[in-house]
Amino acid sequence: MRFTHETPAQRVVFAAGRSPDAVAAEVEALGGAKVMLIASDREKELADPIAEKIPVVLRHEEVVMHVPVEVAERARRAAADAGADILVSVGGGSTTGLAKAVALTTGLPIVAVPTTYAGSEATDVWGLTEGETKTTGVDKKVLPASVVYDAGLLTTLPGDLTVASGLNAMAHCVDSMWGPRADPIDRALAQEGIRALATGLPAVADASTGIEGIEGIEGIEGIEGIEQTLYGAYLAAVAFASAGSGLHHKICHVLGGMFHLPHAQTHAVVLPHVLAFNAPHAPEAAARIAQALGSDSGPRGASAGLAALREVLHAPRALRDYGMPEDGIAKALAPIIKAVPANNPAPVTEDNLTALLKAAWAGEPLS
Ligand code: NAD
Repeated sequence: MRFTHETPAQRVVFAAGRSPDAVAAEVEALGGAKVMLIASDREKELADPIAEKIPVVLRHEEVVMHVPVEVAERARRAAADAGADILVSVGGGSTTGLAKAVALTTGLPIVAVPTTYAGSEATDVWGLTEGETKTTGVDKKVLPASVVYDAGLLTTLPGDLTVASGLNAMAHCVDSMWGPRADPIDRALAQEGIRALATGLPAVADASTGIEGIEGIEGIEGIEGIEQTLYGAYLAAVAFASAGSGLHHKICHVLGGMFHLPHAQTHAVVLPHVLAFNAPHAPEAAARIAQALGSDSGPRGASAGLAALREVLHAPRALRDYGMPEDGIAKALAPIIKAVPANNPAPVTEDNLTALLKAAWAGEPLS
């Protein structure tokens, strides 16, 4: 065995129902005295109780998906004007992403409080969009110093977004099996991540399908499901940050950018097709995924396991449902082929990639 694995330093606090006190303790431990609190208007109510316990000098609500540079610039100026010495983000991947954009140029530490399963809080990857072009990069400065996971904050996440976001985390795990830098530690983390997500998500989806708001999840069962899913989402992101983007993420990045598709739903739709595409060429990964999903170890066990889970979750099925035009399949081929990592288990050709994209577009199984 020959590999080098780096584990970046980060504190992770699980504190269901106790995020205000837990965030206050993290801010104090980091020496923060002037907090810039970032949360969109939709996430404001989740952030209010936290704001009461920490020394906030500025609340910033302008959050936009994929972090346009002008939005990042305004946030950076606001941080400087207020003399902030620490960032607290309360929200989904877009909110965490804005905190990262501020940290990138200021070096301020972040305490991240995630309210979706996107996992950005556990990676050192930043993203910024200029016009139509999204640029991503890696910098240790943007990895939050502390993460506070409070399952209570995810009870307001609508059922369809819960499922899509959870499957986005599942995609981090699956791509970590064969990403360009995937190592045995990434695969172990990803396998446990898949197990936790497959355990947690059905409980969460059961409780929240069709219901928006805290009434959807009553009692400890729902909260435990959210905690399992958050735990899985954290492992997924840690594995993914180390392994790097594989075929799945390259496809979603190109399609999302070209056709302005919603992030989590795009991942949820594309995942089974990439798994069916690569699994026959990656027997060890396929066996790990099948085992984590409680499926049989035969050649189609991983795909069958994911299909069964998706059925229970009523997962998003087709890219055409999210506005991708059919002629987009041909347009996306060249940029995807250019980006596919050289170590992808299955050889990628125009023909087999067209078949994959057609299946994902139409919501039909990959034949
Ligand atoms: P998001 O942050 O855009 O949130 C989606 C919507 O849900 C928003 O309107 C938000 O306000 C709302 N919301 C969030 N939490 C809620 C809650 N608990 N209750 C009710 N509403 C809630 O979506 P996302 O999928 O979390 O993040 C997507 C973004 O994150 C993309 O830009 C993606 O590129 C980025 N991302 C980055 C990384 C990384 O490592 N850098 C990893 C994953 C995702």
